[in-house]
Amino acid sequence: MMNRHAAPARRRLRALAVLAAVAVGTGGLVALTPPAPAQAATRTIVSLTFDDGNSDQLNALPALKANGMKGTFYINSGFIGATGHMTRADLTTLKNAGHEIGGHTVNHPDLTQVSGDEATRQICTDRKNLTSWGFTVRSFAYPFASADPAVEKAAQNCGYNSARLLGDIRSRFGCPDCAYAESTRPADKYALKALDQVDATWTLDDLKAGVTNAENNGGGWVQYTFHDICDNACSDLAVTTSLFSQFASWLKTRQAAGTVVKTIGDVIGGAAKPLVDGPSVPAVTGSTNGIVNPSLETGAPDCWMKGGYGNNSPAFSTGSPAHTGNIASGITMSNYVDGDAKLLPQFDLGQCSPTVTPGKTYTLREWYQSSGVTQFAVYLRSTSGTWTYWTSSPWFGSATDWTQADWTTAAIPAGYNGISFALTIFGNGTLRTDDLQLYDSAGAPALAAATTTAPSSATMQATAPQGPVEKVHPTESDVAG
Ligand SMILES: [Zn+2]
Repeated sequence: MMNRHAAPARRRLRALAVLAAVAVGTGGLVALTPPAPAQAATRTIVSLTFDDGNSDQLNALPALKANGMKGTFYINSGFIGATGHMTRADLTTLKNAGHEIGGHTVNHPDLTQVSGDEATRQICTDRKNLTSWGFTVRSFAYPFASADPAVEKAAQNCGYNSARLLGDIRSRFGCPDCAYAESTRPADKYALKALDQVDATWTLDDLKAGVTNAENNGGGWVQYTFHDICDNACSDLAVTTSLFSQFASWLKTRQAAGTVVKTIGDVIGGAAKPLVDGPSVPAVTGSTNGIVNPSLETGAPDCWMKGGYGNNSPAFSTGSPAHTGNIASGITMSNYVDGDAKLLPQFDLGQCSPTVTPGKTYTLREWYQSSGVTQFAVYLRSTSGTWTYWTSSPWFGSATDWTQADWTTAAIPAGYNGISFALTIFGNGTLRTDDLQLYDSAGAPALAAATTTAPSSATMQATAPQGPVEKVHPTESDVAG
């Protein structure tokens, strides 16, 4: 591993060589050249970064503006416009104020837990989305600070100039044997070392210490990562607007010691590279079930996620009895007021969620046992990777024995290319499900007549969710990211 002081030392040697060459040509003028300022060797650069596009991060803007500082905002393009997240107009506001828009994947997966193709789609598609919205996108941060050599290579191949980890710089929060700063010429631009993410336990002294520890130990690059700036304890990662403002004001005074604030892209440098497309996924056909791991029999990554919204208390489990194999999904609902719960294919860019074609209709099937009526809730993925609620099927009747629900969607609307769905529980009781199936309805296999169940009612659930479903993407309250 290269010593982080080695690069500046080499730069100084090159500078001396240039001066020597000048001296040969001009006869002793080099003696009049003033020495480099002492502070150049101990210079500290600070980057203020903000992850996930949480809308409360806009609360940091007045303090950034007042102190003449530009931040880097790592954005999940698939969350933009969703509840609690920034809108595209917000991102434009950031850009117009001089801040950097960086990438953070479309749907915020742990990139080491998905296929190489999915990781590449998540990184490349996000960069493509953000670029298409008018931003110059050079810098990337790994969700959950999770990366391995293959993921780092994917970040590079998608055209990023850098990619950031977390928790690799020494502080009272961790990494006691680490350095106090990343090099301003990082050894690995695709594994940038940063302080642990800021959380609600950080004090003003903690924030200051990240800077002063670097200043007092040879300088270098200190990257801060914020998630929420709010005054109502909105998350475990939140700092107050006042605390952020105090830190920014103090940070400005460090200019006297040579400490400056820069965006990640400006520290790394270099122009934005060409866009790269991620690998495509073939659309579901009429002859092969489009669901991955449809009977829940395989382990992680199992391609399933817990979904739901509203006021209720679902308890999820997997195991026997199953319709086929050994594993089915079980949900026991209590304290039901409104909303629903379901286990459905992971919202992603195609490894787990099936790819569909606009204009085509699709056949949805799932085996179930249910103490009450149930129905399919259906979500669509936009061509840019944003997931939203689409529609719900009519109700299917309660069933003690394994029963197959079968429903055909309307035509997939333009602008969407992925689907996720499942039977839901929307009352107190139990729902078991197994063997989810999806076919292009032109060519879907016939059902055995004895197993077909007709909808008990054409009534749609009145409380079907509108817009992005809640509780379906990972929260970051207890993981880096
Ligand atoms: Zn994140």
